[in-house]
Amino acid sequence: MIKYNRVVLKLSGESLLGKLQHGIDQEVLADYAMQIKEIISIGIEVGIVIGGGNIFRGLSGTAKGFDRCKGDQMGMLATVVNSLALASALESLQIKARVLTAIAMQPIGEFYTKELAIKALEKGEVAIFAAGTGNPFFTTDTAASLRAIEVGADVMLKGTRVDGIYTADPEKRSCCGQIR
Ligand code: UDP
Repeated sequence: MIKYNRVVLKLSGESLLGKLQHGIDQEVLADYAMQIKEIISIGIEVGIVIGGGNIFRGLSGTAKGFDRCKGDQMGMLATVVNSLALASALESLQIKARVLTAIAMQPIGEFYTKELAIKALEKGEVAIFAAGTGNPFFTTDTAASLRAIEVGADVMLKGTRVDGIYTADPEKRSCCGQIR
């Protein structure tokens, strides 16, 4: 029995690091894609917001002397890099994925509109919401909440490696509840 028909998943960029110090661990990426394929194949509509913390965060940039707005734009671009990587991993599993960017940057992604996103979700395509909210001084958690509300998702689920309150240890269980 399907509990939620339309979900928005927030994946932290940091979790894409896997065993690496920097960048994207292909194994983690492939694991994400596989799990997303599983939920798509049982008819759940999936939207994804992926962070950029494995590449750049605006706030940490200010400590190194970057202008905060430019640093945040770099962070938003980092989310686009991760979104493209995830789209590519999904497509290699024959799952159609659309990268919808909050900032216009065709042909890298399509400029996000709620209508475009809903159409994609209804067709069973994975809608990947990239570039956060498009505004500095926000994070991708805000973007995930915003997109979830906009597309009328039944739930927004967040996967992270950052300390917090969980129903299970995310290092030991996958988002489907399977033991790693
Ligand atoms: N960011 C932003 N506006 C947004 C979303 C993200 O400026 O609406 C920037 C911000 O600098 C942030 C970075 O993009 O630190 C990466 O996002 P986030 O820190 O949420 O990534 P995560 O921690 O999930 O990997």
